[in-house]
This record gives sequence, C-alpha cells and structure tokens, in this order.
Amino acid sequence: MIPNDHYHCEDLIDLLNDYLDGELSLTECSELEAHLRECPECQSLLASLRQTLSLLHQFEEAPPSLPPGLEERLITRMQRLLVERH
Ligand SMILES: [Zn+2]
Repeated sequence: MIPNDHYHCEDLIDLLNDYLDGELSLTECSELEAHLRECPECQSLLASLRQTLSLLHQFEEAPPSLPPGLEERLITRMQRLLVERH
C-alpha cells in the first residue's frame, strides 16, 4: 500500500483517465479517491475530464477511451494548469 501523501497531483493525472474508464485496481481506486477527498484541484481536474468524456460519449457509442491525440493534449493542458497553480 502506498501512503496517501506519496501521491502527487501530477502522478494522478495519468490515473484519472483510467479511473474514469474503470481500469484501476480496487487499491488504486481507493487511494485515488482518498487523495481526491483532500485535493480540490484534482477534484476539478476529474470533473473537467469527466465532462469531456461525457461530451465524447454523445458522439460515439461507448468509446473504450479517448482518441490518443486528444488524450495527450488534455493531459498536457492539465499538467500545465497544475504547474501554474503550484
Ligand atoms: Zn491533487
């Protein structure tokens, strides 16, 4: 078990997409959720990622994940946002 304070927001960005896709293990899920409860910044990142995914779902029938290019751009944008905020 990784202690909760081991997690950094930058590390979590990569996990958020898998989390929304339901691809994380139970352990990873609970650790991620524990961090989310204490981190408003990751909460808002998750909210915008979730919003983006639900928009995508309106156009495609249950896409397995974001298109590779888009996912990359999103993650880059989120990482930049985090760097600006810290
Ligand atoms: Zn965070």
